[in-house]
Amino acid sequence: MWLKILKTLLITVFCLSLLVCGSPPKEKVKVVILGFDGAGWPTIDPLIAAGKLPFIKQLKKESAWADFQTVKPTKSSVVWTSIATGKSMDKHGILDFAYLKENNLQVPFSNSEKRVPSLWQMLDRFGLRSVVINWFVSDPPDHIHGVVVSDRFRRVILKKPEFIDSYADSVYPPMRFYRLKEVIRSNYRKTLQRIAMPDFRELFQKVHPEKDSKESFTLQNSRSFVMQDALIEDVSEYLFHAEKADLYISYFRLPDIVQHFVLHLFPDDYLQQAFGGDGHHAPAVEQQPEIMARIAAAMEPVYRSMERILAKYMQDPKFKDAYFLVMSDHGFSLFGGGYNHYGLPDDIPAPPGILLIKGPAVRPGKIARAGVFDITPTVLYLFGLPLDKTMDGQPLKDIFTLDRKMRYTSYVLDKNKKSLRNQDADRETIEELKTLGYIH
Ligand SMILES: [Zn+2]
Repeated sequence: MWLKILKTLLITVFCLSLLVCGSPPKEKVKVVILGFDGAGWPTIDPLIAAGKLPFIKQLKKESAWADFQTVKPTKSSVVWTSIATGKSMDKHGILDFAYLKENNLQVPFSNSEKRVPSLWQMLDRFGLRSVVINWFVSDPPDHIHGVVVSDRFRRVILKKPEFIDSYADSVYPPMRFYRLKEVIRSNYRKTLQRIAMPDFRELFQKVHPEKDSKESFTLQNSRSFVMQDALIEDVSEYLFHAEKADLYISYFRLPDIVQHFVLHLFPDDYLQQAFGGDGHHAPAVEQQPEIMARIAAAMEPVYRSMERILAKYMQDPKFKDAYFLVMSDHGFSLFGGGYNHYGLPDDIPAPPGILLIKGPAVRPGKIARAGVFDITPTVLYLFGLPLDKTMDGQPLKDIFTLDRKMRYTSYVLDKNKKSLRNQDADRETIEELKTLGYIH
């Protein structure tokens, strides 16, 4: 009798799960998302053509790829949240880097202000595990099946060892923090050798012996940013191998940071010639390819580092049958004000980022149109999970040789699974944003 009830119950649960999930894929799906802030084809393609990025060259041939459409304002906090939620900023609630509270107190937008679930929370609802590393606006970390290393963790690299433990709550579950502490390597010169990166302040000083690198905030802090990305590479290396998960996500920032100060690495007379007598004229159209080639050459160590990270996981037997989604949140544009991705004149559209999708059932070739809102629906589609009609994008179905049924549900945030924001962390974030020149 009990056995019979149990059997009926099991069958009911099974049927219900089918009803919710649509047709679950027969194969075990694994997805890896790697984000590289600010990476763009106009600076990658010249390096591919010059034979400098052989792995990415081959990857582009084997992948579905796109000029990745993004939205103004191309602020990283806003766009990466759109990528992870499938929604525009008026829905997800992350409107900027920071906002003013009463008493004119500046507060960074944090994960606490996010109004809708992120991809890893949607997967969590169906019992799928995620490893999430350094995603923008992910602190305080979400409580999910798996591991979340929030974007506050990377700051441990700047701290004295006695202060590091105060970052334990930047990782969920916090116990994982103590294992991650063991991967921290803080020798700057050894790090440069390991990841084959130049010291950008020395490069600047060679070109401008008489100047102070303080004239660019990002250049001034370039050593910290290099160390933070190297730490994230080590954390990813450790967790991608130690953890069994369905979704692995990691985010790197250096392509954006270096492009923000790249013009400072060029001689003044070159910039005057490129940007007119006062240095504030949009470069002539016929001169732009030459300037872009020069920027690309300066970016070579950064993109080679990106290539090393991509190759590491794509050639790893653990991820042999995984789907890889590689993307940036925006590119950069040349204009009268220099080389940037925001503060652009109205007639210059948001500079597209890069998108590459590779996997067992992917049709290679250029994707006609793909944008930041399409990533979350596409990953849900790959997992055979229901989509949400309130999302602003669509699954990129046509690039796959798959036939998944489209089902829909409504994904809502489970407020009980939120941890509280940390005011010390807020103060530090505001300081960092000021250092970057993102807020004043
Ligand atoms: Zn960005």
